[in-house]
Amino acid sequence: MIVTNARVLTFDAGNRVLDSGEVEILPGGVFGDVRETAGGKPSGEVVDAHGRLMMPALINCHTHLYSAFARGMPPVDPSPGNFKAILRKVWWKLDRTLNREDIYYSALVALIDSARNGVGMLADHHSSPNACKGSLDIVERAFREVGLRGALCYETSHRDGPEKAAEGYVENLRFIQRVRAQSDGTIGASFGVHAAFTVTDDVIRSCVEEAQAQEAGIHIHVAEDRCDAGAVTRLAKFGALNERTVAAHCVHVTAAEMNLLARHGVNVVHNPQSNCHNAVGAARLADLARRKVLVGLGSDGYTPRMWEELKAAVNVQRLASGSPRAGWAEAYAALLNNRVIARKAWGMEIGRIERGAAADFILVDYYPPTPLTAENIMGHLLFGIANAPIDTLVVNGRYVVRGKRCVTVDQRKIAEKAAAQARALWSRL
Ligand SMILES: [Zn+2]
Repeated sequence: MIVTNARVLTFDAGNRVLDSGEVEILPGGVFGDVRETAGGKPSGEVVDAHGRLMMPALINCHTHLYSAFARGMPPVDPSPGNFKAILRKVWWKLDRTLNREDIYYSALVALIDSARNGVGMLADHHSSPNACKGSLDIVERAFREVGLRGALCYETSHRDGPEKAAEGYVENLRFIQRVRAQSDGTIGASFGVHAAFTVTDDVIRSCVEEAQAQEAGIHIHVAEDRCDAGAVTRLAKFGALNERTVAAHCVHVTAAEMNLLARHGVNVVHNPQSNCHNAVGAARLADLARRKVLVGLGSDGYTPRMWEELKAAVNVQRLASGSPRAGWAEAYAALLNNRVIARKAWGMEIGRIERGAAADFILVDYYPPTPLTAENIMGHLLFGIANAPIDTLVVNGRYVVRGKRCVTVDQRKIAEKAAAQARALWSRL
């Protein structure tokens, strides 16, 4: 396949902007030649982009697909007044109630929403304590049916007792070993842990040992709220910090802990809208950047639209610091760093349009009304591209969204089935 007549943001090493580009997609789902249109008719299947903007598919480095079933859920009365109460009264009640069908349909719904918003890869942090065994296979099935790339893990936690913690551990291990036996590279795995404050020393120790034995990383919430302050220090003590570790949030970290994150090459994932929603505080992106901590961007299940997170990342920094200079560079870097995290944590070569990278891309109905160059991409992303409809999403060389419709599954039918599942789940809460 060759895409012609596209304005291409390559996000490759040269960060090229091609005003009228041609991009070849090779069998096997990787990019071939990326060049300015040469003229003449290329051979093979030609897709005319009609001047649309072509860029790498978006990446969401931390989310919870099952949270799709919290949409419109009956409110808790009185509403929780702090972070721990939010977990106890909302999320841990919801995840304990999930059955196998709920896991499947909530994942499908969240993945379809993500696909239609141009997201080609998501790192999911799953929890279903009363349907733990085999749950990651169900989430994987949803990924494969929608056609998205995923990195999965199960949220090991002591919050429901030692047996549930042990089940979580086994589910991670089983899934990591199974994924390793596959070869298509579209599904990756981490060793999931909920957070340092919900696991015992023994659980952390055994998860870290097993993750290392399996050459997998730990995916964990870190210092999201004040109640988890000191988490980086504790995780470091158990050897949990390395190049494959994915640490969501890192809001309440000291300067010394930032240095630890940098020294061990930890992948931090910033989730600004979730942080606002839970009123847990603002991550100090400038301080993290100054210490060369790698920070990417996730949604924590708050939204399928990564553009919202990009905007929030800028605005939260400005509001928190009182400076109209804050956040811009850090937010743009975080969006681009997701491709680095995808490579380090899960070995995925995505997030750039360049020969040899996986062919995950979007075509956007965006025709820049002002000059668009390599130097001002962020301005166009934030104020233009973010507001433009996504016409096409291709993952691994295969269409997922075409003509603004999800073409792999029947969105309407799935939504109807999901709504019935959600209604039944809410009645069991
Ligand atoms: Zn999370």
